[in-house]
Amino acid sequence: MTRYAIGLGSNLGDRLAHLRFAFEGLGELGWVGAVSSLYESAPVGGPAQDPFLNAVVVVESDLDPLVLLVRLQEIENQTGRVRRTRWGPRTLDLDIVSSDGDLVSEEALDIPHPRAAEREFVLRPLAEVWPQARVAPDTPASEALRTVDSQGVDRLARVWSEDHRPWLGRLFVGLQFVWFLGIAVAMASDGTLPEGAVDVTRLVGAMVAVIGGALAFISSRRLGPGLSALPEPRSDAVLIETGPYALARHPIYGGVTLFILGAAMIVDSLSGVFLSLALLPFFYLKSEYEERTLRIRYSEYRAYRDRVTRRLIPFLI
Ligand code: ATP
Ligand code: CA
Ligand code: CA
Repeated sequence: MTRYAIGLGSNLGDRLAHLRFAFEGLGELGWVGAVSSLYESAPVGGPAQDPFLNAVVVVESDLDPLVLLVRLQEIENQTGRVRRTRWGPRTLDLDIVSSDGDLVSEEALDIPHPRAAEREFVLRPLAEVWPQARVAPDTPASEALRTVDSQGVDRLARVWSEDHRPWLGRLFVGLQFVWFLGIAVAMASDGTLPEGAVDVTRLVGAMVAVIGGALAFISSRRLGPGLSALPEPRSDAVLIETGPYALARHPIYGGVTLFILGAAMIVDSLSGVFLSLALLPFFYLKSEYEERTLRIRYSEYRAYRDRVTRRLIPFLI
């Protein structure tokens, strides 16, 4: 039995589906010992192209290295991979990154993979599941990882080869509605501002509520059928980057927060004001979770996130 580390990468089509397909295929070549987290990485070398999803899977197999290579290429081809430009976009790339067998240096195959030691997108997942794996004759992955510069590699999910934690999105939605209810109760039972201050507060509150309401309304219209309270995108949804979404990535959350804040000011509820402001860190966390699923789904999300820097409220935060 030889232990192999296989590097998986995809930046074309349904990237996650291709990696899952590879995972299934690897299970038929041997015994799958460990699976790394899922990473997204900026493309290295080659023409301008979408970011990759990457992972490393450790397989214990009786296959000889060259036979394994051919079997990996068969799996690549089954996803419709075509080889045109070197280092060009691909549906699936399966490299033998490392093994605990003899070093291989042949025309068609080098083990360890000659460029593994300089690639963060290989070293990070590899060091996670097999830190001692050789990436050069005398260099384990964990050591090589310490010497590479940061190359735009982000961890997106711990479990990716199957669906994981579907309840987490629901928990966020549940908390959100409990929170809204709490604010409504607080607003109904409050009234704490001193006389005189109330009129100014009401006026500002009305403005904030109108702006927030308009933002939430226009944004949800723009989202159209993709609108959902759940943080996971619907299967038929497309990524919207226009209108309010060109100014903030989660404008409905920002708009709803402003609307409730304005309403609390109008009815003169101090606890309502605090509870609505506390929605901001909550929506921050919810959108953080949401963006990880969006980045797995949409390869263009990474560039969108870099371009639209405001998260909740246009021009502000
Ligand atoms: P890179 O090798 O820099 O990651 P790539 O994966 O895009 O680039 P491919 O076009 O997929 O390159 O493969 C080119 C050739 O590399 C393959 O045909 C294969 O014979 C050879 N090769 C050499 N060593 C390995 C290895 N360890 N794993 C996979 N392929 C290898
Ligand atoms: Ca490769
Ligand atoms: Ca390859």
